[in-house]
Amino acid sequence: MQLTERQKEIVEIIKKNGPITGDEIAKMIYITRSALRTDFSILKKMSIIKSKQKVGYTYNEAFVKSNNKTLVKHIMGTPVTIDESYSVYKTVLLMFEKDIGTIFITKDGNLSGIVSRKDLLRIAIGKRDIEQIPINLIMTRMPNIIFSMENETIEECVKKIIEHQIDSVPVIRIAEKNGKEIYKVVGRFTKTNVSRLLLDILENKNKERGE
Ligand code: ADP
Repeated sequence: MQLTERQKEIVEIIKKNGPITGDEIAKMIYITRSALRTDFSILKKMSIIKSKQKVGYTYNEAFVKSNNKTLVKHIMGTPVTIDESYSVYKTVLLMFEKDIGTIFITKDGNLSGIVSRKDLLRIAIGKRDIEQIPINLIMTRMPNIIFSMENETIEECVKKIIEHQIDSVPVIRIAEKNGKEIYKVVGRFTKTNVSRLLLDILENKNKERGE
């Protein structure tokens, strides 16, 4: 099925600005929201865009039919990073607050460590004063961190996760700071990302079969 010019325009807007609401898109192309309803519905059925209540429309990178492969940057999540001086206690609180299983540690913007739930549990059962222990004392540190680059393929990254039996990897971009090369953390790639991608693929296959 060919997209109309208007549908192509909507896809471009979502690709650039997503997540974006239907009202915002309508304003950008000077058409009423209700007149766009059919276009949104077609684009959703074709799995080109996705919609989420209270968030808006996003571009469905995983299914774009092109020669491009799905890359880590297409499905990675937002990282949570802290400075090396954080105490173990504050890190535990942050883990609960953000509801995630691994936290990345940086020093002057450079990735220096990673801590997981188990690392924190291990130190907490030692009956030591975790408010006084800095996180860099217990973190897994460079050069032992397994990381990924934004443009790595999903296959490459999943292999690392399986091989090293870990739940997540930081996604980094090599940048320059004060004349020094640093590993800047730009994302977080987890087993949950992989599960979600798999679900999308399976649901799409079912749709193709008309189930
Ligand atoms: P958990 O054991 O808490 O379920 P993981 O399996 O991810 O979480 O972590 C196991 C161990 O591996 C921990 O000691 C953690 O610090 C370390 N670890 C986690 N992710 C990485 C990574 N990307 N690179 C290196 N070590 C990691």
